[in-house]
This record gives sequence, C-alpha cells and structure tokens, in this order.
Amino acid sequence: MAGGKTCDTVTSVVLRVDTDEDVSGWGEVCPIPHYLPAYAEGVRPALEYLAPVLIGADPVGPEALMARADAWLQGHPYAKSALDIALWDITGQAAGLPLYALLGGRQAADMALYHSITCVAPEEMARIARDAQRSGITQFQVKLGADNDWQADAARLRLVREAVGDGPLVYGDWNCGATRLDATRVGRAVAGLDVMLEQPCATLEDCAAVRAATGLPMKIDENGHDTASLLRAHELGCMDAVALKLSKFGGLSASRRARDLCLHLGPRMCIEDTWGSDITTAALLHLAAATPERALLNTCDLSGYVAPRLAPGAPTRRDGRIAPPDGPGLGVAPDPDTLGQPVAIID
Ligand code: MG
Repeated sequence: MAGGKTCDTVTSVVLRVDTDEDVSGWGEVCPIPHYLPAYAEGVRPALEYLAPVLIGADPVGPEALMARADAWLQGHPYAKSALDIALWDITGQAAGLPLYALLGGRQAADMALYHSITCVAPEEMARIARDAQRSGITQFQVKLGADNDWQADAARLRLVREAVGDGPLVYGDWNCGATRLDATRVGRAVAGLDVMLEQPCATLEDCAAVRAATGLPMKIDENGHDTASLLRAHELGCMDAVALKLSKFGGLSASRRARDLCLHLGPRMCIEDTWGSDITTAALLHLAAATPERALLNTCDLSGYVAPRLAPGAPTRRDGRIAPPDGPGLGVAPDPDTLGQPVAIID
C-alpha cells in the first residue's frame, strides 16, 4: 500500500459464543496492521472486559445487547464487530433464517466483486488486471503510492484503464497516503480518463479538495467509520462511493445503520471488511445481498485472498461474482481441526 506498507500475514480473531440453548454463534475480526486504530491483540482483552455484560444476557436481537456493551466499554468497534456478528449468527439460527432475510431481505442473487491490485510496477498491475478480467472481474482497485512517485501512479491508472478496456470500473486507492499536491497532480494527469480516486489523503477535507481540483469521482474509505463521518463526507461533496467495512463500524448492527443512512445520502457502497476469512466474509455477503442493487457498488471475497480457508464449502467467487450462504444465521461454521484449541475461554 501507500507509504510502502506491506503485510504478508495477518492475525484473525475467531470467536464462538455459546448459549444455554445448544445454539452457538461465530464471529471474526481481522485488523490489518498499521491500517486503522485497531489491532488483533486488542480483541481478546476487550471481550474479556465485556464479560459481565455478556454472561447470562439474551443474545437474540443483537442491537439491544450491543447497546449495553457500548455503555460498558466505549469505542473499540473492531473488537465488538466479532461479538456482534456472533450474536447475529445466533439470532438467525434461532429464527431459522439466513441473515440476509433479517438485514433487509434478499435483493440480489449474487453481487459483483472488485479485485484489489497490489502496488507494484504499472505494467505488472495491468497484467494482473487482465488476468482478473479473464476470471470475470469487472471492477479493479489499483493501489497507489507505494514508491512515492506520482508519475508512476498516473501510469498505474492509465495502464490498468487501457488493459481492461472501456466499461469496467477502475479506481486508484492511496489508503490516506498521498499529499493533496501529489494526489491532485495524479488526478489531473488522468483527468480525461474514466477513473475514480479512493481516499487519497488522511482527512475528509483534503479528499474533498482533491475531488474539487481534479473533477474525478471520489470513494471514501478510512475516513468513513460512523454516522457523523458519513454525514460530514456527504456535506463536503466527496462521497461518490464509500467502503462500509464491518469492523470500522462495529459489526453488522452498526454497518446496517450505516447502510441505511447511505441509502438516503446516495453514495454507491462497497460492503466488506478490513480483512478476514470465511466468517467475516459470510457476514458481509449477507449485508451486501440485503442491499438494493442500485446502491451496491461491489463486495469483497476476503477469504479468497488468504489461506487457510476456515470453512470448507463457504462461498467462493464465480465469474467475478459471489452469493451469500443460504443456511440459517451466517450459514457457515469453521472446521474445528483448522481452528485447533481455543486460545482463551471467557465464562
Ligand atoms: Mg480502501
């Protein structure tokens, strides 16, 4: 990513919430190092701290219990995301319904995926884009800024745009790593092309300035993480699209509220998460499938980028698209042998 940030491995925290009714729910959160105010080692102590609120509480109807959790421990949305997903899994199983039915109802048979292209040499990125396009992908995220060379970034956008031809969506993502000056130079260099810019700078105000100077549509990611920041991005006129990552907001409950606000405000939504395997992927697919197709930009098969797979039989990409699981709740459960023994039990 921008600034030369890399990560070869990530730690994913998998949570199982047991009830006294023989129903268990699964949750997962996988923060990327150095990406957001979140770290994997912070999840377990936050959940331990919440134990007095959780033990003995009714898990059905997650928002009531999450409100109590928010009153007990403010913030820490990433840690709460795993908990909230597990409560939704229990609620769906208790209802005998897949989560998409509880999150707004199935609005699409399947959803478009984007393919993220790591920031390497422009020609190599164009080759990766062509390969992904052959597999059915129609939306391409071009990572920018790894070498601090604005002309290379302009070439990355130009070559990927050329490689995939007219029609597919191409957007360049700096992950907050660009200055206003460099992002504006890149944007003006490719201003005649059909491209979108994503989160060039670290603040919404700078992103809005880049949008105004380049005339290019803008996707907000890192700076859109709660109701107030979404409203501010909308006010500034820089939110043509937005990434709703479950763990930025605090799980499915808070992301559903963000989704509903965005239906009103109007940006196209990428519904995804920071990272993770089959549990978080299933959760985000349910929310994406329950979102009107006209408002959904794309979604992400996070589990397809990492190994090992936690849940054999969980959804995988097909012709650039993906569908949610159909079983009750999340509709996926991890393979116990892959997980191994729990690192902690909170009771
Ligand atoms: Mg992004």
